[in-house]
Amino acid sequence: MDYKTDYLIIGGGAMAMAFIDTMLKETDATFLIVDRRPKVGGHWNDAYPFVRLHQPSSFYGVASRPLGRHRLDETGFNKGHFELATGVEVIHYYHALMEEVFIPSKRVQYLPLCDYTDNGAILSLMSGEEHKVTVNIKVVNATLMNTEIPMTHTPKFKVAEGVNCVPPNHLCRLAPKHKHITVLGGGKTGIDSITWLLANNYPADNITWVIPRDSWFYDRSKFQPDKDFLEYTLEFIAGQTENFATAATLEELCLGMESRGNWLRLDRNVWPTMFHAALITKIELEQIQRISHVVRLGRVESIDTKGMQLTKGEVSCQPDTLYIDCTAAGLCNNVNNFTPVFELGQINLQCIRVFQPCFSAALIAHIEVSIEDDALRHAMTRPTPMTDTVKDFLTSQAHLLMNEGQWRSHEEITKWLIDCRLDGFSHLIANISADDHKKINQLKRYGQHVKNAVDNLLRLAAVN
Ligand SMILES: Cc1cc2nc3c(=O)[nH]c(=O)nc-3n(C[C@H](O)[C@H](O)[C@H](O)COP(=O)(O)OP(=O)(O)OC[C@H]3O[C@@H](n4cnc5c(N)ncnc54)[C@H](O)[C@@H]3O)c2cc1C
Repeated sequence: MDYKTDYLIIGGGAMAMAFIDTMLKETDATFLIVDRRPKVGGHWNDAYPFVRLHQPSSFYGVASRPLGRHRLDETGFNKGHFELATGVEVIHYYHALMEEVFIPSKRVQYLPLCDYTDNGAILSLMSGEEHKVTVNIKVVNATLMNTEIPMTHTPKFKVAEGVNCVPPNHLCRLAPKHKHITVLGGGKTGIDSITWLLANNYPADNITWVIPRDSWFYDRSKFQPDKDFLEYTLEFIAGQTENFATAATLEELCLGMESRGNWLRLDRNVWPTMFHAALITKIELEQIQRISHVVRLGRVESIDTKGMQLTKGEVSCQPDTLYIDCTAAGLCNNVNNFTPVFELGQINLQCIRVFQPCFSAALIAHIEVSIEDDALRHAMTRPTPMTDTVKDFLTSQAHLLMNEGQWRSHEEITKWLIDCRLDGFSHLIANISADDHKKINQLKRYGQHVKNAVDNLLRLAAVN
């Protein structure tokens, strides 16, 4: 069978869903989604059972439908902060959206378990048949984030027979059967595994944590989308922009983020080099600081029944140790990927606001519909790819400030941002009253420093 569509969407993850949702509202076009997974929602379909968003639910999903109920958590390690949807909630949200909105619209066709091949055909992974597709308007590549998660990746280290090394998907079932657990990886998944163990009373002393590189974390309290928290967020934005404008070196920039309380680190005696933009609370930080067996000997190369061989040394381990593989790249396959969003006949869904894939995809859809001038489209959609190191962060952040400047000098886009639920702060900022001097002053500080911030970030990116 051959297919016809206005927009062919390759990939059915979060970015594809946010893009289509906005296009359904703003156009009368048709869409064909091709995804090799059996359900929409991308990587969330294979997530570990205790995964949660690390940003408030209000920032996530599609523009037309809220995710969660905008409640503050009253207990747990996220206490006092807005709720973080669980993986199950996220998946249910996307599956319901598909069944209740996309398919009933009669404008969305969906081909699960199909691969979009290099020669532009659709290959059924079940029957092996290839289908042709005629695209009237554009191909939309919604796979550029290239998300790699523990359940579906292949570890880069060797595991000898008799060693129990599993993705965190099996942690809940296996943890009670093992007296010693070693968590491999210092990113968000590693933190999730440690905090899940501690929240469930697993003894901290029986956990070993392998951290090849330490990381800077954002303090989640600065990203709370509500008027009651707005002053903190504006202070974060103003202070960060001042810091970007004035830091003489990369090190000074990091210390400036830390001294303003924007960035946190596990150990003040260890200098982090990694930056994956994970958000944590101070309670979570205190919890992960309870782990005293931290191995900082580089990456794991192999594990056998006696212990681990790492790039900078060896560590012996108890024979019954359960190893939890949290070493998947996450979003790192997208690092330094500056593929333009708009190309001839094709849209490449990239973050155009750092670390905001859903918002970015929705805004790209709106720009596709409302901006015809090619130069302006490009100026509004400089890619802000994912970051692996602090150096990567410099260019992404500079591009973000440039994009924001373009959006805010366009009246219609500014209005769209205020109305879009995936933009956590524009509507709050638009409603600041003229006599709220503190917040007005914070906005002024941002405005005063933004140009120098862009110049300095690009200068630092060039010399580091
Ligand atoms: C644990 C975790 C927590 C996160 N928390 C947050 C958060 O709190 N807030 C936030 O904003 N972001 C968060 N993110 C990031 C965010 O979820 C991802 O960036 C986003 O979901 C990526 O969506 P995507 O659609 O780009 O990619 P994916 O989810 O990877 O979807 C792409 C899809 O394309 C399919 N595909 C790829 N190639 C082909 C092909 N050739 N043919 C057919 N199909 C193909 C894949 O099977 C996949 O289903 C988190 C990510 C992780 C891993």
